[in-house]
Amino acid sequence: MLTTPCPCGTGQTYDACCGPLLANLTQAASPEQLMRSRYTAFVTGDADHLFRTWHPRTRPDDVRPDPATRWTGLRILAAEGDTVEFVAQWERSQWEGGEMHEVSRFEQRAGRWVYVDAE
Ligand SMILES: [Zn+2]
Repeated sequence: MLTTPCPCGTGQTYDACCGPLLANLTQAASPEQLMRSRYTAFVTGDADHLFRTWHPRTRPDDVRPDPATRWTGLRILAAEGDTVEFVAQWERSQWEGGEMHEVSRFEQRAGRWVYVDAE
């Protein structure tokens, strides 16, 4: 990773973007930043980051991303208040793929943004 472009698509390097969040060195300053870092965690298979940033009330027992699914792109459509609307592209093979369109809800817990659920 390091100086490679961040998977979340900001155009910044991984180290200047989601890297410090996934390494748990900094906290997301906004729901959009957290959403981007969670997308990157899906790309890199970082279950620790997903666990850490998921509200305990809605968090499934197993947060490991499905290794058969490759996430290939993220577009943020809107970020207002505590919600982020986005489209994430995925593929499972050269024949199977699609887009996931979601409005995610976030909540601040002890000063940290966490993912709650999708509207
Ligand atoms: Zn990023």
